[in-house]
Parts: sequence; structure tokens; C-alpha cells
Amino acid sequence: STSVTKRPLTLVLASPRGFCAGVDRAIHIVERALEKYGAPVYVRHEIVHNRFVVESLAQKGAVFVEELNEVPDEAAVVFSAHGVPKTVPAEADRRGLTSLDATCPLVTKVHREAELHHAMGRQIIMIGHAGHPEVIGTIGQVPEGTVLLVGTPEQAETVAPRDPSMLAYITQTTLSVDDAAAVIDVLQRRFPDMVGPKREDICYATTNRQAAVKTIAPHCEALMVIGSPNSSNSSRLVEVAARAGCARSVLVQRAAEVDWSLLDGVDRLGITAGASAPEILVEEVVAAARERFDVTIEEIRVTTETVTFKLPQALSE
Ligand code: SF4
Repeated sequence: STSVTKRPLTLVLASPRGFCAGVDRAIHIVERALEKYGAPVYVRHEIVHNRFVVESLAQKGAVFVEELNEVPDEAAVVFSAHGVPKTVPAEADRRGLTSLDATCPLVTKVHREAELHHAMGRQIIMIGHAGHPEVIGTIGQVPEGTVLLVGTPEQAETVAPRDPSMLAYITQTTLSVDDAAAVIDVLQRRFPDMVGPKREDICYATTNRQAAVKTIAPHCEALMVIGSPNSSNSSRLVEVAARAGCARSVLVQRAAEVDWSLLDGVDRLGITAGASAPEILVEEVVAAARERFDVTIEEIRVTTETVTFKLPQALSE
């Protein structure tokens, strides 16, 4: 016989993991736009931060660009799930483009909060990561230069609003729940009159994926987060796992790039996926693990998600 004895390995799958309702909707918008308008359909920025998803849609005729000036006149253009500054749809209208907004409704919720605070005369502190497209989009809902961006408790200690009695905070949807709480604590101590969101800006999907990772991390010797390096919520999952007691936690895009030497001496490997990573990439890693180990699967579910979002009117007929 040529059979070799494989070493046992338990894969502990975090649940919920992977696609959220906003990502699912954004991908459907591109697919429906391709059906309705025919290829090419332009997409401003990666529709969601996942290379596999972007390449699959590109094969079907989506053309990814960074700015509207790369989109020809009269074309159809989709705005990514991360949201866009107000100047972008305005420019698309001016150009006569057919625009389709794949901004996640939970990001749009934060946009409306920002507008409302601004209308009420409150200065906005946004808690988020400089340069991330969601942050650029949210800040771009109100006049330039009016939002103060804060990323860390240290920055929260020194931020200088013009009038602390007329202040509000909003956050990026994909932050670490614990890190955001630390920043908010500092701000609330310094600015007791500051108002915040009625319902948290960090979305249900971010919260649930972090909760699931926190639950499994202490019982795993290594943990893989499947996701792209530019995916904010995926990077946060790596940090959450490390802080919850699993020091050997890594981000991997897909099975082909897994460094299996990471698993030397590991009996239990945790696996999760960021909100923009399709389940097929998890299945790929599980299959690759089965080639090397005698795999047992354990799935730990901390909650069940039932959120779904409707497509925009123009595509739902
Ligand atoms: Fe929407 Fe949250 Fe998914 Fe972002 S991670 S697309 S805010 S549901």
C-alpha cells in the first residue's frame, strides 16, 4: 500500500464568517448590471476588497477603475460597497453616466448621520483608518476639512475640536469593537457633551465575526483569517485573534499561499474569513489541509445572521 499515516488536525471553523449582506448585495449589483446593460460595466474601486471576487467579476465583463475619469461617457458605473464622497455621484450625473450605488446600506446609515450632525451645527469626529475608501466616502458627505479623523486613543487625547459642546462622533463600520471602545472612552471623558450614534456604526457582520474569533482563539494554537490585505475587517480579525490568546494568527488570501510550516506542533487550527471573502476560499483551504492532515472539522457558531439587503430599484425589476 502507498497510504501514509497523516497527522491528525482539528479545524475549528468560526461562524459567522465570510460574506456579509452588504458584500453579497454589492456583488449581485455588478452581476445584475452586466445582465441589464451588457459588458463592459465599470466599477469604481474594488467592489469589495477581495482579489478572487474582483477577478471573477472581471471575467464576466466588469472593468475596475479607481476614478470616474477612467470611465467613458454614457457607460454604466457601479460605486463600491465602501461608499463614495458626494462629489462622485455628482460628477457621474454631470457626465451623463448611468450610476449604480453598491454602497452598503449600513455605510449609508453612517453617511446620513454625518449629514445630520453637520446640519445641526455639530463638528464630527470620525473614528477610523486614514486613507481607507470608506473613511474617504464618509468624510466626503460633509464639506471638506470639517471632520476630525481619529485612529487611536493617543490621537483622541490630543484632538482639538472647535467647540466641545457641539460635537458628535461616528465610526468606520469595520473597526475592532474593543479598539473603538477605547477611543470612544477617551473622547467621552474629554468631551462629556459629545453625542454618538443611536445604534452603533460598527456593523453586525464586523461584530459577529470578531465575537466568533474571540470565542475560538483561546482554544486554537494557530488561526488563519482568509481575506485580502486591504480588507479592513479581515485585518482586524487577525488582531482580535492574537489578542484573544492565539499568537500564531495570520491573514491568507487563499490555499495556494498558505505556509503549512505554520502548523508545526499545531493540533487545533482556527479558521475564519473576512466579510469580503467567499466561502469557496475557505473550502479550498480545508481541502488543502485534508491533503496533508487527517482532518476533523469542528464548527463553533456564536450567532445566526438573517440580515439581507434589497437591490437598488433600477436593478430589482
Ligand atoms: Fe456592510 Fe458591514 Fe458588510 Fe461593510 S462589513 S459591507 S458595513 S455589512
